[in-house]
Formats: sequence, C-alpha cells, structure tokens
Amino acid sequence: MRSNSVNCWLRVVAAIAALGLAVSASAQSPKPVKVIMITDMEGVDGIWDSEQQCMPNKSPRWEESRKLLTGEINAAVDGLLEGGATEVVVWDGHASGANLSTLDIHPKAKLLSGPGVPSSAIVDSSYSAEIFIGQHAMAGADKAVLAHSESSEGIQNYWVNGLRVGEIGLEVMHAGAFGVPDIMLAGDTAACLEIKALVPNAECAEVKSGVSRTGGYSLSHPAACALIREKAALAIRHLSEYKPYKVSSPVELKIEYTTRGVPARPDVGFEQVGDRTWVLRGKDYMEVYRHI
Ligand SMILES: [Zn+2]
Repeated sequence: MRSNSVNCWLRVVAAIAALGLAVSASAQSPKPVKVIMITDMEGVDGIWDSEQQCMPNKSPRWEESRKLLTGEINAAVDGLLEGGATEVVVWDGHASGANLSTLDIHPKAKLLSGPGVPSSAIVDSSYSAEIFIGQHAMAGADKAVLAHSESSEGIQNYWVNGLRVGEIGLEVMHAGAFGVPDIMLAGDTAACLEIKALVPNAECAEVKSGVSRTGGYSLSHPAACALIREKAALAIRHLSEYKPYKVSSPVELKIEYTTRGVPARPDVGFEQVGDRTWVLRGKDYMEVYRHI
C-alpha cells in the first residue's frame, strides 16, 4: 500500500517534469517556417530585352541584370525573415542556374543552383511556403514582358485539366502537390494577374508594367526592393490564411508546340492529338509534371 502510493507520487512528479520540459522545448524552438524562392530574370525591374540583358555571360548588360535580380532576392529574404520565416532557400531558376553568386546572396539564405538541378527537385513537403521573384507571365499573355512558357522557342501553350497555364501555374500546382502554398510573387503586371487567378490572396510586388512584350514602365531598383520586402513580410505573416493549390486527379497535360518545337516523347506516354499538340495522362499531377 505504502510503496504503491510512493510509486504513484513518483509517476506524478515525472509527468510534471516531462510536461515542463516539453513546454520549455516548444518555447525555445518555434515551428520552423521554411520558404522556397523560385527565381527568374525576365520579371525583374528594368529588364525588357532577352538578348541585351538575360543571356548569362553573353548579354552586354547581363552583369547589371544579375545585380538587379540579386537585389530583389535579398530584399525578399529580408522581408521573409522579418515576417517570421526561419529558413529561406533560393533557387536560381533562370538559364540553367548560372546567375547567382554566394559572394553577394543574402548571408542568411541558402542557395540552390547549378546546371544539374531538375525542377522536380526544387520543392518538397519540408517547406511551409513558396514565393516567386523575377517571374514573367505565360507565352501569349497580353502586354506581358518577355512572356514565355519554359521555352520561348519550343512551347506555345500548356493546359492542365483544360486550364491554360504557364510557369507560374505549373509551379503553383507542383508546390500544391506537396501541400505547400504559394503566397507571394514579384514580377510584371501580367505575372501578378496570372498568380491572382490561381491564388486570389497572393501578395504581389508589381515591379514593372508592360506596354508590349519588350517595353513598359518600371519602378526604380530601390523602390522595387522596398515593395518586395514589404509584400514578402506581409505574405509570411498571413501564412495560415493560404491553402496549397490542389489539382484534381486523374490529370491530363496538353502541350502545344511551336513550329520549331521538338515534339513530345511517345515512349513516356504522350499521345498526338493535333499537328503540334500532344497529351499526357497520369494518375496524379506529379506523374505528368516530371515529363515537362
Ligand atoms: Zn528566365
């Protein structure tokens, strides 16, 4: 009887101690908020011309473009950290990942770069959110600066379950497949409209606005960076209000190639349905995404 009551008290004391440890552990280490940043160059402030500004080591103004892109990225990292992000991974997504340098990327960000990063490897379920910096709209969009969908040479259009999408849509759906919501974009007016159609509450930093595919109005670089920082902080503060974008299964991906496009691969299941149009069906989004 006596030893039973001692055991009982010991158990109570142990339980209280364990509870105390758990509470202090959760107070010391808040839930990680890891953000993946998809970056591109065509949507950065002041960039209008692929040949003059966007081709790594070839364009006469590429060094300047690289600095503009890095400035926008670092402003976004500042905003995300201010708003509560605990880790930011920056993916160098333009032209085979040859644009960003560890010399001047934000010291608190981690860089994912190099020619060997497949787009299927950029997001997974360890992330809490995804954002876009320097993003352009889909091929054919109205007054969209340097708009294209993956390849301006080869791809005319993509559709997923009948919905026309560009890079923004494909990546929003990709992140959504891992339960990761898209919360913010920096780019031109057309790119902002495109993400808003998929994620109505996405925060947008409209750094420029096209009057054609290769011209328009831009904020100054410092003004663009200030806006990006503000929108990134705002988005991450409201993270709980965002939902991952889910594509209903099964999934049909339709690709229309340009006349110069290299046609799809029948060996992975693409079926030709028109002169330049091919369809791939899969049980879910990831099954078709990996063939894009
Ligand atoms: Zn690009």
